[in-house]
Amino acid sequence: MNVDTDSELITHADVVIVGGGIGGSALAFALANAGIDTVVLERQKSHTDRVRGEVINCWGVREARELGVLPILEDAGGNYANRFVAYDETVSPEHADSVALDVGSMLPDIPGVLDVGHPQACAALLAAAEKAGARTVLGVEDTVVECGPRPVVRYNGPYGERTLHARLIVGADGRVSATRQQLGVRLTQTPANSLGGGLLVDGVDGWRQDTSGIGTEDDLLYFVYPRANGRARLYLLHSPHQRGRFSGASASKDFIKAFQFHCIPNSSEIFGNIRPASPRTPCAFFPMNDSWCDTITRDGAVLIGDAAGWSDPVIGQGLSIALRDARLVRDALLAHSEWTPDIFADYTAEREVRMRRLLLSGKVRTAMSLTFGPYGRRRRKAYAAAWPKDEILAGSRLATFKGPHNVAAESFESEVIEQIMQLGS
Ligand SMILES: Cc1cc2nc3c(=O)[nH]c(=O)nc-3n(C[C@H](O)[C@H](O)[C@H](O)COP(=O)(O)OP(=O)(O)OC[C@H]3O[C@@H](n4cnc5c(N)ncnc54)[C@H](O)[C@@H]3O)c2cc1C
Repeated sequence: MNVDTDSELITHADVVIVGGGIGGSALAFALANAGIDTVVLERQKSHTDRVRGEVINCWGVREARELGVLPILEDAGGNYANRFVAYDETVSPEHADSVALDVGSMLPDIPGVLDVGHPQACAALLAAAEKAGARTVLGVEDTVVECGPRPVVRYNGPYGERTLHARLIVGADGRVSATRQQLGVRLTQTPANSLGGGLLVDGVDGWRQDTSGIGTEDDLLYFVYPRANGRARLYLLHSPHQRGRFSGASASKDFIKAFQFHCIPNSSEIFGNIRPASPRTPCAFFPMNDSWCDTITRDGAVLIGDAAGWSDPVIGQGLSIALRDARLVRDALLAHSEWTPDIFADYTAEREVRMRRLLLSGKVRTAMSLTFGPYGRRRRKAYAAAWPKDEILAGSRLATFKGPHNVAAESFESEVIEQIMQLGS
């Protein structure tokens, strides 16, 4: 439904959210559900596969529940995996199976990690937001925001140029956020730690639907995230120096060919007949890095999700981050009648700690899983032996499942991270 017709012109709203991805549409649902007059402006006319994240880790599942969007994500085709297995060149499959993580018991009442198609999730959340009373405009272009005591958003919609007055603007427009730039917020990015890409495939035969997988072999790190009926999202990551390794017309074919790992038992049967989920399914690679902003609030505006700075996707946290951001912004708006920038002080402070911890978790994951060759194998083996016996060493790893706020702060102290980095040297 598009309500921005000439006969039903939107001119005012309490909250205007620029970007109807995971963060923006989840927030729109939660605000509309709480009776706040909300408009979402989304650039796409319909959500398409842009090779974005699809695995919501356990702590993100909890955030989705807190926001009230969990049933929507489950109904959008979400599949829970309660087991995480590391078939890797450094261990036998039997050993990997025997030490597989029980991610279904990481947090009370959370059945595991939830894998759900990104376009399906966004579309279902936006539809639910509309049902709850939010107004959405799809296919918008040229959004321009002005913050201050009387925030304004101008955009070009399907029915022409529009001006929208709001009490608050939320920038939820992803990595290349125009809203962030227009608010004059500075983004700092780290160099790419690796290049990572994904392909949605059908025809996976014999991989357990309750199990997600990770492993390194030769010069590739892989992930397997299964859904129903032989569908899975596969990811591959490689050195940033191999730009273009999977690109051009043969990208999907080369990706599928590479997905024959000796360390995965029965790999040739499981992945022997996989194919892209549709002829138009993209196979795209992105730099895997971290970023942060000098501020995430302005008078009359706040940023959430990737627009506010992202975590290296190597640890698959972006969806959980966006959902927690949405929840904290909703809670701040509901708790205060005056929406001054101060109401986001707790959100800002919490996010800074959260993102710093996740940056360190990503650093550990990159060091352990994307250092190749004999040294990499030594490191990985030493780490696999060390962390399960030491709660503090385990913290940066378990944070990716439980949430960075649910493990000991000590796990992120520089001496502890350095101790992990020295393993196997
Ligand atoms: C290869 C890869 C794999 C990943 N894997 C995982 C994973 O497994 N798990 C995980 O949690 N995270 C993962 N991530 C990260 C995750 O995809 C993002 O962190 C998450 O999608 C961020 O959500 P968001 O709502 O902030 O932004 P997005 O999902 O990017 O949504 C932004 C929305 O804003 C819209 N938009 C943009 N500009 C405008 C504009 N000017 N006006 C209106 N609308 C606009 C876009 O069309 C889009 O719909 C991965 C990322 C990559 C690149």
